[in-house]
Amino acid sequence: MFFDQVTLLLAVGVACGALCATLFGAWIGSRRDTFLFNWSLGLGSIVLGIVLISVVGHNYDPLLHMASFTALLMGFGFIYAGSIQFRLGQTRWTAVWIATGLGVLSTASAFALGLSGVGAAVANLGIALLLMLTGWQYWVGRAEGPIVMVADAVLYVITAISFALCALAIGLERKWTLTELPINWAEAINSIVVLIGLVSIGALSLAANQARISHFHRMEALTDPLTKLPNRRALMERYSSTARAHTAAILFDLDHFKSINDSYGHAAGDLVLCHFAEILSTRIRVSDVAARVGGEEFCVILPNVDLKMAVKFAEHIRMKTEEKTVAWVNEQIAVTVSVGVAYTAKGEENFNTLLERADQALYKAKTGGRNRVGSDSIHLVSQ
Ligand code: GH3
Ligand code: MG
Ligand code: MG
Repeated sequence: MFFDQVTLLLAVGVACGALCATLFGAWIGSRRDTFLFNWSLGLGSIVLGIVLISVVGHNYDPLLHMASFTALLMGFGFIYAGSIQFRLGQTRWTAVWIATGLGVLSTASAFALGLSGVGAAVANLGIALLLMLTGWQYWVGRAEGPIVMVADAVLYVITAISFALCALAIGLERKWTLTELPINWAEAINSIVVLIGLVSIGALSLAANQARISHFHRMEALTDPLTKLPNRRALMERYSSTARAHTAAILFDLDHFKSINDSYGHAAGDLVLCHFAEILSTRIRVSDVAARVGGEEFCVILPNVDLKMAVKFAEHIRMKTEEKTVAWVNEQIAVTVSVGVAYTAKGEENFNTLLERADQALYKAKTGGRNRVGSDSIHLVSQ
């Protein structure tokens, strides 16, 4: 063979050690992400298992062989735990301990009966099971990043198969009790697959985590933290240049909002803002966008509507805002809103120009007495 077993083991150990240190460093930088710690702990345990195997390779001792499998099973158990945590935000320790414990106990039982070959086969199957379960986590969570997550899942399955093959080889050779480490085709395949598989999985997992962090920061930059609606930047990004024909831009500005803050306090003002955001977001269609574009200013974009529908929507929101008072301590805060509607009837229009027209319509509604809908083409339409 091109590489001997010891060289491959050494390479796997060094690769796992480097990954373990990288993930631990990443966890130090982001302690919230405890899955990084579990992955690192898992790899550390795998390195320990590999060190023990190399000791057993020099001088076979069933007790040390069992200890090395225990370290490997625990290591893959922690990696499984980390992967559940990565997908769900929290881990399911019961599932992890049942799967890992099953592997450790059955391996230990076989070794205790003097059947070290059976123990090695069972341990390999236990590791394969843990790897399959880990791969399943990535498969189920593939919507987050299809390419990386599916690639991770496939690598886990291939690595699992290589461990299952080691169990098969022991079975085929009928070596129920070992006097030395098994050396066969399956072990050779396993070492190479583990070397390539674990390094690739490590790189992919770090890439998946980095992509998640970038996505999180991007969402944070585009979301208003109080109302959770998209902010002005998100709106401008989405409608960066032109608005298509049959698009309505509607601006909402809460009336005398400053006096709500002055009378009830800033926290009550915040509650009113959330209340209004909810009125908007529960009434728009999937294709519409509602954003908080300023302190007490909101914007809704309605694509594929006619002017009548847009004005009707604006009027509906105005009416609901007036109807639904906001409960604050022992009082009910009455809120009204002024609205400006602008509409692109045909052709495309610069989005900023459309917003400017909506702003002018809003100004008309404000100067016309507030709590009303203004439109740039139909003037004041309601009170
Ligand atoms: P108008 O009817 O003319 O729109 O009067 P207004 O009082 O609503 O408008 P004005 O621009 O005078 O005041 C807006 C106020 O909104 C001032 C500011 O303190 C308040 N505000 C802006 N952002 C927030 C926020 O996040 N929370 C709270 N509670 N108040 C805010
Ligand atoms: Mg305002
Ligand atoms: Mg206002």
